[in-house]
Amino acid sequence: MKKLIAGNWKMNGSLAANEALLVGINAGLSAVEQCCDVAVCVPAIYIPQVQTQLANSGVAWGAQDVSSHESGAYTGETSGAMLREFACRYVLVGHSERRQYHGESDVVVAAKAQRALAFGITPIVCVGESLAERESGETMAVVKRQLAAVIHAVGHCVSEVVVAYEPVWAIGTGRTASPDQAQEVHAVLRAQLAAASTRGQGPRILYGGSMNAANAADLLGQPDIDGGLIGGASLKVPDFLSIIAAASVIR
Ligand code: PEP
Repeated sequence: MKKLIAGNWKMNGSLAANEALLVGINAGLSAVEQCCDVAVCVPAIYIPQVQTQLANSGVAWGAQDVSSHESGAYTGETSGAMLREFACRYVLVGHSERRQYHGESDVVVAAKAQRALAFGITPIVCVGESLAERESGETMAVVKRQLAAVIHAVGHCVSEVVVAYEPVWAIGTGRTASPDQAQEVHAVLRAQLAAASTRGQGPRILYGGSMNAANAADLLGQPDIDGGLIGGASLKVPDFLSIIAAASVIR
């Protein structure tokens, strides 16, 4: 299946920096044959800017979070309807930084995925174990539990989500899961998704966690790794373009 490379800018950027980054990405992509899907998930306030700059480009845009509620007294939150007005194709849900710093439970994450789907936005559902959980042999149980909550909430619509396996210990640390470690988890998630989804090849499963220009090809070459969720390296034009190039040659 066609790979997806999605950037997660996290809480980074400025009007000037975003413009320079997007000009660089657009210029780089227009010079090559882009054979994978590309997206950037940006801070909510910059979505209008990114929409303007990426209109008619091959790059989709998305948000980093969505409210589990439809509308109303939820100060600071952004609804699915609002994201849809700005043509977001994707939204991250359950990123480990949201689970860790904002106390998002599996149930809340699942409700967010459901809400995104209801507005025609593809949720990129992040799952992943902490270092302590890996070291105590709980990796598979943790990721399966996190994904099961989403499957329970969205039912057969799970074919329409994207899953991102992001070991927490590999995010922003420079420490990457080895291709074998990542593949092992992706295969388990693939089987869980296959049992739950009724349509097509099932959801794409991205790997995230210190993916960069140097390790992308090996990770993306694994049979069950369908793309990457890229944090730090998505803020650097040459690095992001190298990862896209690596994804474009592997089918
Ligand atoms: C992320 O934030 O989803 C991520 C994978 O970050 P990094 O690539 O910086 O580890």
